[in-house]
Amino acid sequence: MNITNPMNDPKKKPLIDSLLGEKDESIKYNIAKQNNYLTRVIAFITCFVEIGFTLWFFSQYGVFPTYDRHVFVTEVMCLSISIISVFAFIFLKVVFNKIQNNIWLHNEVIAIYMFILVLFGILLSAIYKQRDENTFVLVLFLICSFGVVIIRPVRLFLSSALVLVVYILTYWNFGVLRISHSLNIIEIIFYLNIIALVRYYTTCGFLDTTQKLSGYSAVLERLSFTDELTAINNRNALRKNWESFNGRILSVIVLDIDDFKHYNDTYGHLTGDKVIKEVASLMSHEFGADDCYRMGGDEFMIITEYVDEEAEARIRDVMEQAKNIVDEGELMGVTLSVGAIKVHCKNAGDLREYMKRADVVLYDVKENGKNNYRYVNLVD
Ligand code: GH3
Ligand code: MG
Repeated sequence: MNITNPMNDPKKKPLIDSLLGEKDESIKYNIAKQNNYLTRVIAFITCFVEIGFTLWFFSQYGVFPTYDRHVFVTEVMCLSISIISVFAFIFLKVVFNKIQNNIWLHNEVIAIYMFILVLFGILLSAIYKQRDENTFVLVLFLICSFGVVIIRPVRLFLSSALVLVVYILTYWNFGVLRISHSLNIIEIIFYLNIIALVRYYTTCGFLDTTQKLSGYSAVLERLSFTDELTAINNRNALRKNWESFNGRILSVIVLDIDDFKHYNDTYGHLTGDKVIKEVASLMSHEFGADDCYRMGGDEFMIITEYVDEEAEARIRDVMEQAKNIVDEGELMGVTLSVGAIKVHCKNAGDLREYMKRADVVLYDVKENGKNNYRYVNLVD
C-alpha cells in the first residue's frame, strides 16, 4: 500500500508530535508494511500447523488412544478453549480498534481465560492422578493455549516459563510425572514458541497494521482540521462544526493582529510566526481551543457561548496579554482589533451571514484607529 507518510515530513513533526502525544508512538513507525496477501497466507498456514501439531500430539500421547470418557471430555474442552481463544483474540482486536483506551479489558479477558484454563488443568491432573498416568497432556494444553492467546513474544516466553513451573509443581504434588517426558516438554515449548512467534509477526502484524491504519487515518483527520502553525482549528474545522451551532446563542468574534506586516518586515517571518502562535495560544487559553479558529494569515475567529460582559472581559484579557508578547527579550507591542456580535443562530446557514456582519464590525474598528474592540448585540 503506497501512502505518503506525513510522519516523515520534518515541517509537520512538531504539530504531529503535539497531536499524537506519547500514546500513539507506535503509529509513527512504518505503517502498512505487513498488510499484504503473503502475510495472511502465512498466518493461516501457521494456525493450521499449530492446530495440526496439537492434534498430532494428542494422537500420540493424549486423547485418541485412551478413549477414557472423562479424559476425552476434559481434553476436548481444553482444546476447544485453545481454538476458541484464537477467535476471541481476533474479535477482541476488532473491538479494541473501535473502543479506544480500553487496553485494560484485553488483560482482564486474558486473565479470566488463564484462570479457566488452570481450572481445567487441575481437573485434568486430578483425573490423571486417579489413573496414575502422567500429566504430560495437561502441560501441552497449557502451552498451546498460552501460545495461542498471548502472542506477544516476551509474554509468550514468560508464559512458557510459567508452564514449566506448573509442570514441575504438578510433578511434586502428584508424583505421577515421568521424568523422561521433561525433554519432550522442552521440545514442545520450543516448537510452539517458534510457531507462535512466526504468527506474531504475521497475524498480529496484520491485526496491528489494521489498528495502526485506523490510528493513522485519525491523525490525518485531525491534521486536516488543524492549523499547521498554531495547532488550533482551521477553516475546515469550522465547516465541520457548522451544524453544532444550530439553535444556540453565541458570540461570533473576529480578531485580527494590527499592522502584522510590520513584524514580518522588521523582524522576519519567524518572529511573525511566533506572534501568530502566541495570539492563538492566548485565545485558546481564554475561550478554549475548541472554539478558536485560524481563518488564515493574522485573522482568527472565535465562536463561543460566552456572551455580553463575559465575552467582552475575555476579549479584553486577550488584548491586554497580547501587548506583553516578547521575542528574544524584545517587547513586540502587539495590538489587536476585534469585531464581535451576539447572535441567536437559528439555523446553521445564518452563520455565514453572521461572520460577514462580524467582519464589518472589525472593519469599523480598524477604520477607527485599531487596537480596540466592538461588541454588537444582534439578539435583544
Ligand atoms: P491590518 O492592521 O490592517 O490588519 O494590517 P496587517 O499588516 O495586519 O494586514 P494584512 O492582512 O495586510 O497583512 C497580513 C500579512 O500576514 C500578509 C502576509 O504576508 C502575512 N502572513 C500571512 N500568513 C502568515 C504566516 O503564516 N506567517 C507569517 N509570518 N506571515 C503571514
Ligand atoms: Mg492584520
